[in-house]
Amino acid sequence: MATGNINVSVENIFPLIKKFLYSDHEIFLRELISNATDATLKLKHLTSIGEAKIEYGSPIIEIKIDEEKKQLHIIDQGIGMTADEVEKYINQVAFSGAEEFLEKYKDSAKDTGIIGHFGLGFYSAFMVADKVEIITKSYKDEPAAHWICDGSPTYSIDAHDKTERGTEIILHIGEEDTEFLEKNRIQELLVKYNKFMPVPIKFGTKTETLPKPEDAKEEDPAPTQEVDNIINNPNPAWTKQPADLKDEDYKSFYRELYPMQFEEPLFNIHLNVDYPFNLTGILYFPKLGQDLNLQKDRIQLYQNQVFVTDNVEGIVPEFLTMLRGVIDSPDIPLNVSRSYLQADGNVKKISSYITRKVADKLNSMFKNNREDFEQKWNDIKIVIEYGMLSEEKFFEKADKFTLYPTVDDSFLTFEELQEKIKDKQTDKDDKLIILYASNKDEQHAYITAAKEKGYEVLLLDSPIVSHLIQKLETSKEKISFVRVDADHIDNLIKKDEETISKLSDEEKESLKTDLEKVIPTTTYTIQLEAMDSNASPFMITQPEFMRRMKEMQQTGGGGMFGMGNMPEM
Ligand code: ADP
Ligand code: MG
Repeated sequence: MATGNINVSVENIFPLIKKFLYSDHEIFLRELISNATDATLKLKHLTSIGEAKIEYGSPIIEIKIDEEKKQLHIIDQGIGMTADEVEKYINQVAFSGAEEFLEKYKDSAKDTGIIGHFGLGFYSAFMVADKVEIITKSYKDEPAAHWICDGSPTYSIDAHDKTERGTEIILHIGEEDTEFLEKNRIQELLVKYNKFMPVPIKFGTKTETLPKPEDAKEEDPAPTQEVDNIINNPNPAWTKQPADLKDEDYKSFYRELYPMQFEEPLFNIHLNVDYPFNLTGILYFPKLGQDLNLQKDRIQLYQNQVFVTDNVEGIVPEFLTMLRGVIDSPDIPLNVSRSYLQADGNVKKISSYITRKVADKLNSMFKNNREDFEQKWNDIKIVIEYGMLSEEKFFEKADKFTLYPTVDDSFLTFEELQEKIKDKQTDKDDKLIILYASNKDEQHAYITAAKEKGYEVLLLDSPIVSHLIQKLETSKEKISFVRVDADHIDNLIKKDEETISKLSDEEKESLKTDLEKVIPTTTYTIQLEAMDSNASPFMITQPEFMRRMKEMQQTGGGGMFGMGNMPEM
């Protein structure tokens, strides 16, 4: 048997990188700004530990379009590179200088927020550029270097007369990618990917209106001045400590995240953990009501303040994808498929951490201010109910604070409900019979009758309530939900002979058996004969099981716990 090395030559790999490295051409800008940010953060770190003896000042990154020359410039005032370093970091494809830096300054640099790690980001420039130039001057006292490469594996490197520290990347934008020379397109990309990056990013200038001098006349225009147009907020709320933020800060950050959302969020959850994984973020509960189709503003995923995606499927449990906000974690592998993601140990931990934090927050809200929690209930119940159906761990926690509204507009927890009805709403097997209405107006007569008997009637009208009922019936012992008009509460509720007479013999028979199961003949005086004779009053319009069958058919079935009727998100 012979063994050997597969010989990969740069000539072969280069066009591959160019074509397939990233499916999305637009991310080249994110990658180059990430490198510029890393270069700036590295400099910050080296000055802070005294290794770079310079004034750090307040460096910025600048993006410039030169339409005439068809060039895009990314300029930073960071660490820069010597000619040797260009050879080392740029000419070696897939060698990550970011990783090397983190390795070298291990302990001190772990919180620097350095982004890069694959050593491929720089080459994404060739997805949009025919030719790329680097003009760079290191913070070390060495001459600047000028590197030019036209996308073939040959490059040139020379000295350059640049005197300011930092790096300028010049992209000669190709014919097919001229969109990246348009101001609006670049602005759009900057807002999408770099809005919260840690170093200020300048894109052109803007006119700022100044206050009028005191002696100005009414008709005098207010003075203006040109200022840098900084497109990002380098210190977004989620990077701060919860203790340093007020309610108003959370709200204004929400507006920053979703400028087109005019409705205020109901409340937020600040995520902040650094062991066994790193994750920060803020989740907001929006006012959802029953309307789930307007889900355009979604949770955004960041890594070290760089936007990655707003598709958090597989990372955040599905029922929480209805929330809004940001999560930022360097520990989520993103170069893998979604199905692989779900199997990743870290991601699983992250997902259950988020679930737990949400449950804990809801629980503390319920405990600290029940009245307020009740007021928010209608807007948050859809998330909670869906969560109870889909995540067992969440069910266990939520069972303590989930509210069941009654027809009298009050709210009961399951425990409170149980306590209230345990002595008067049981059947012969000691099973608790929970009565509920789904529509107060339509079932008005039945509700009144049940109330007169002293029974408690819940008002369950949420879209997934039939699933929730099944879930409760199977996870709790000895309870049964019965719709108020499906039950025969004594002989008092208005009879509906018509419905019964329409039933086939078979249906009557099964209704009879079903009734015998649900209704304690000892406690109630049921007149099942009514079905045959029509002689005496009878109050069951439809047996519970038939109604549920019908409901399941209408909602597309979906099995016991199927989510067949969940709205698209
Ligand atoms: P990564 O960022 O994953 O390390 P890249 O391919 O994006 O990989 O960049 C390769 C290396 O080139 C960086 O690690 C860094 O050492 C160097 N580099 C790239 N851009 C700059 C820059 N603007 N300033 C200084 N060094 C840079
Ligand atoms: Mg990089």
